[in-house]
Amino acid sequence: MAYDVLIIGSGPGGYSAAIRAAQYGLKVAVVEKSPKLGGTCLHVGCIPTKAMLHSAEVWDYFKHADAHGVHCDNPRLDLSLVLERKNGIVNKHAKGIEGLFKRAKVEWIAGYGTLLGNGKVQVQSDKGTQVVEAKNIILATGSEARMLPGMTPGGNLLTNIEILNMKEVPASLAIIGAGAVGVEFASIYSRFGSKVTVLEMLPRLVPVEDEDVSKELERSFKKQGIRCETGAKVDKIDTAGAKVKLSITLSTGKTEVIEADKLLVAVGRKPNTDKLGLEKTKVATDRGFIVVDEYQQTAEPGVYAIGDIVAGTPQLAHVATMEGMVAVAKIAGKATRPINKNRIPGCTYTEPGIGSVGLTEAQAKAKGFKVKVGKFPFLGNSKATILGSHDGFVKVVSDEKYGEILGVHVIGPHAYELIGEAVTAMEAEATVDTMVATIHAHPTLYEALGEAFNAVYGQAINA
Ligand SMILES: Cc1cc2nc3c(=O)[nH]c(=O)nc-3n(C[C@H](O)[C@H](O)[C@H](O)COP(=O)(O)OP(=O)(O)OC[C@H]3O[C@@H](n4cnc5c(N)ncnc54)[C@H](O)[C@@H]3O)c2cc1C
Repeated sequence: MAYDVLIIGSGPGGYSAAIRAAQYGLKVAVVEKSPKLGGTCLHVGCIPTKAMLHSAEVWDYFKHADAHGVHCDNPRLDLSLVLERKNGIVNKHAKGIEGLFKRAKVEWIAGYGTLLGNGKVQVQSDKGTQVVEAKNIILATGSEARMLPGMTPGGNLLTNIEILNMKEVPASLAIIGAGAVGVEFASIYSRFGSKVTVLEMLPRLVPVEDEDVSKELERSFKKQGIRCETGAKVDKIDTAGAKVKLSITLSTGKTEVIEADKLLVAVGRKPNTDKLGLEKTKVATDRGFIVVDEYQQTAEPGVYAIGDIVAGTPQLAHVATMEGMVAVAKIAGKATRPINKNRIPGCTYTEPGIGSVGLTEAQAKAKGFKVKVGKFPFLGNSKATILGSHDGFVKVVSDEKYGEILGVHVIGPHAYELIGEAVTAMEAEATVDTMVATIHAHPTLYEALGEAFNAVYGQAINA
């Protein structure tokens, strides 16, 4: 019997969509090629990196505990236990998804799925090949790390997959790419003791963020001893010896050869769409990414796409999940609305952390808004003093005319949690005045948001 919904891929997009489809009473199955459910996010992305970032934070606490009157003689970092803890978290959550599937009666079909056209999907596994039929198909096959031309990961050359299982902390680590993945690994391994160099071709770190955020991250990273080379071009990589040799041209035009024990390539992710049988359908692509309408529908009737494979939305777990919600609601005939791309929080879990939503100052100006900015530094926030974490600020980008909140950019302690208030405010169409009237508890980090909204009027108290 045909399924109401067949989903290919069990990442945060696919597995969440499956559960929602079951909640709507639809007959649903998920095709997954990996032996475990959960996708990139759970196994080699969001969760393991955040587990390791937390371990780096704990290690940092102990190294600086003397200032709190807590003397920890001879603290040691045992990377094998860091990895064991990380793997434990990942496996627990993978089992958790299996449990959710059983409870919701979502069927897991193990194997590699390819489209055959006309609602048919071929699933290939070591047990053989079967053809499954479905009224609706959701493609949620995610992405994989892009490699530099002619290079294959292994040995000293790492992607997000290999670096998550290094047996030792390398004495030196070079990272190509200063997007979220690159800077998060920089933040992990520099705190673990590696000498880290970040190389970015574009003129700034985290290039999608507000320019002020990029500057502050670079300032803070340099203070922590991380070498940051923006506007740098990697001319040649030699992985033949014990150390990787990188010939680079710096932004100044000077050339240099950098040696590192390991090299992480973090230059973006390519969509897993090339072996999906798209040619047997009308599904349209743009440089490998699937083109969808506002309800995630592709050009092939009954075929939807969500998550990292979709053209025009950022490759983030919560985007994949929300796109799944929209697709399934559309299939089930439930009320839904398209994703508002301007209200997607972007979070980078470095030290200091980054959380942002909406337009950057430059984008708002380019769109013709009469921009008013309110900025408040964590230096003026008492909870940040208590935490000993003063780097960063909150920046509100607003439109002068109606006090519309156009964007909020936070860099600083727990920025990725603090941004939640701004996302909710924008979703509820709160204005700067609403946020000025909102009582913020004291002493908290989120008081800094209240102060930044007041700063739009030049009326922050503690600045
Ligand atoms: C190091 C790193 C850190 C990250 N940190 C964050 C973070 O903190 N926050 C955040 O929001 N995002 C983060 N991301 C991005 C996030 O992981 C992705 O946006 C998210 O996983 C995308 O979800 P998805 O459902 O589209 O696909 P995926 O999670 O990639 O899952 C796709 C699934 O489909 C399966 N599959 C693929 N092809 C087939 C096929 N033909 N047949 C059957 N199965 C198939 C795969 O095995 C996989 O299980 C991070 C990414 C990386 C690499």
